[in-house]
Amino acid sequence: MVIKVDIDSVIRDTPAQMLMVYNNSIYAEKKLSFEDLKSYDVNVSFPGLTNAEDFFFNLHAETVFVKAKCCKNAKEGLQLLKDKGATIRIVSLQYKHNMLRTIQWLVRNAIPFDELCFVESKDSVDGDVLIDDCPQNLYKCVGKREICYCLNAPWNKDGWSGHRANDLLEFAQDLIHNFPQKFGEYQ
Ligand SMILES: [Mg+2]
Repeated sequence: MVIKVDIDSVIRDTPAQMLMVYNNSIYAEKKLSFEDLKSYDVNVSFPGLTNAEDFFFNLHAETVFVKAKCCKNAKEGLQLLKDKGATIRIVSLQYKHNMLRTIQWLVRNAIPFDELCFVESKDSVDGDVLIDDCPQNLYKCVGKREICYCLNAPWNKDGWSGHRANDLLEFAQDLIHNFPQKFGEYQ
């Protein structure tokens, strides 16, 4: 049982860092909260920035990617799945210079995982399950007959009608409950 897990907004709380950086900048027309982030596109969710990717992923990359905290219940959920015999394969798209920052973050925060793949497209890596906050990634893998879960966020409220979870512990418990046969061979 291989479980593909996205990093940002799933394991690493990058939105909290992006909100902090944005709200403290001169570009914020008004202070935003997590619930205001209605689009996966940072240029839409953070108005007033001329190039939001450059602002967050280059200029403030250290704050956004290295200083971020873990998402609530992320480590607990991953550990539960590992204890049940699953392989945790982290799959993530990162700009080149943020790959090393991401590896540092995973190690420093003692995230339980087995494999790390930096990929352009989540369907280019095999697995039995995917959890991601981006519906487009989920649709690609549901087409490969993978079990797909959406991690709830304001930007994916309308984009996905399949399985959902509020955090990785809820995801792990739901997956074990709904698909016990997937874990059976390891028990
Ligand atoms: Mg993500």
